[in-house]
Amino acid sequence: MRREVPFFNYGFLFREKEAEFTQILLDTCRKGAFIMQQEMRDFEKNLATFVGAKHAFGVADGTEAIIIALRASGIGPGHEVIVPSHTFIASVASIQLVGATAVLADIGPDHMMDPEHVATLVTSKTKAILPVQLNGRTCDMDRLGAIAKEHGLLIIEDAAQAVGSKFNGKCAGTFGSAGTYSFYPAKTLGSFGDAGGIVTNDDEVAERIYRLRDHGRGSDGEIVEWGYNSRLDNLQAAILNFKLKTYPQDLERRRALAGLYHEELGGLSALHLPPPPLPGSAHYDIYQNYEIEADRRDELQKYLKENGVGTLVQWSGKAVHQWKKLGFSVNLPKTDKMFERCVMLPMNTSLSNEDVGYVCQLIKTFYKK
Ligand SMILES: *Cc1c(COP(=O)(O)O)cnc(C)c1O
Repeated sequence: MRREVPFFNYGFLFREKEAEFTQILLDTCRKGAFIMQQEMRDFEKNLATFVGAKHAFGVADGTEAIIIALRASGIGPGHEVIVPSHTFIASVASIQLVGATAVLADIGPDHMMDPEHVATLVTSKTKAILPVQLNGRTCDMDRLGAIAKEHGLLIIEDAAQAVGSKFNGKCAGTFGSAGTYSFYPAKTLGSFGDAGGIVTNDDEVAERIYRLRDHGRGSDGEIVEWGYNSRLDNLQAAILNFKLKTYPQDLERRRALAGLYHEELGGLSALHLPPPPLPGSAHYDIYQNYEIEADRRDELQKYLKENGVGTLVQWSGKAVHQWKKLGFSVNLPKTDKMFERCVMLPMNTSLSNEDVGYVCQLIKTFYKK
């Protein structure tokens, strides 16, 4: 039987718990608590506890989170920052926008930033590595940490897609000087608009983040540097704080869905799947996306669409170095190859097991043809 399985279901985000969300919005509005109020402070405290960081800050969105994390860590003009090209433009734009230079790295077989390539890109100007914890997976932070230590580099994580993802029991975002999150609606912890967060274990970095997100003002109101207006909207904070309570169950549901995909599709030689959620693995992946590599990718996408299933090739089908007008001239063969084959299958908590079964059945039928 035909089903409609959209790639993402934005309406579900609100409808899922409409009565509770409405009450939270009403209560917060009736109090007149709009900017940097108790709801934001509560969320920051609970987020810090959840990921195991000393400090957490709500900011306007996941992009400004990276900009502020870089500046708070002292990154600026004259510095090189190594970042994967297989990422959303925001990871790289943030580096350029603080006046530093982004140096693009290739990916490894796991589609994550390749530490061995990173090691070859270090120069006397390199100041930091910016790993991107993509699709809800955390990079090999042991290897990246060792490279950073060897060369005296900072680590600033773009963990926009990885709130609660772990490597060796430690949460993405907590490995270096600072880590950033996005609460864009389609992210695993999504708000009803733009929202972002930054975590750090460093008191001095924390003090700078505190100032930079609110016009350079310290806790005593004194302005000591040029800052941004990048405060987390208090209504979004109230919603996020509520959603955080059941977030661990959401993550388990995503892992169960990934397990189903793996069970159904693991035997197809035409596909390359992400690692399944294995107990005892060094990685606790949270499957922000379920990105696969597929033979005849474009045909597969078309076939799924004709049968009611939405898929997406991330970021208009281009890695950052492939945007000609941005002026990068680098050779990243593994990233290039991946972008010829990658596609994301539906992965979100609105999906039923039957939805996933339907998608997998179609894919199996497609490759029999
Ligand atoms: C979503 C995302 C961002 C930016 O977050 P916004 O909240 O949309 O600004 C940055 N990096 C990555 C990898 C992302 O997926």
